Amino acid sequence: MYSSRQQAALLRAQANPTCAECVSRLEGPEVYTVTRYRDNALLAWDIDLAIELCQDGRPPIEIPPDILDNILRVNGTTTAHLDHVLLDFPGIACAVDFTPEGDPIRGLIDGSHRAARARRDRVRFFAYLLTDEESRRCQNTIGARTCAHLELLLRSQGLAFRQE
Ligand SMILES: [Zn+2]
Repeated sequence: MYSSRQQAALLRAQANPTCAECVSRLEGPEVYTVTRYRDNALLAWDIDLAIELCQDGRPPIEIPPDILDNILRVNGTTTAHLDHVLLDFPGIACAVDFTPEGDPIRGLIDGSHRAARARRDRVRFFAYLLTDEESRRCQNTIGARTCAHLELLLRSQGLAFRQE
């Protein structure tokens, strides 16, 4: 599934050479970053590892539309790119923070555009769920830590990577 996903990304970039979102998918490693609302902390996940972890046969779960809408208010998407993505692959969700009561606040670390397309086309959307331990592993790879470090440096200079 992982290699077919890479193959799909390659075909998509060839079909849409002027779409920055399509072309950027060919540059590895893929890291998702988000600024945590509560304390402004920068979090980064290694998506290549997250995809690998989700290949163990776990079933993707359906993300209800109202939760998806909340998530998509945080995850920015590029409208022009929505027609370039296919809904063949589930997204990946995990806890990005916890409420004061200790309940997880889930976010989508992979598949924002697929989710936005699913909402636009009024179809169901599914995502694999990472455990907290898996989420921590994805945040501790060299790729994720390097990306977070670089983004903090850029941020301190008033620049920032475009967030997915
Ligand atoms: Zn695109």
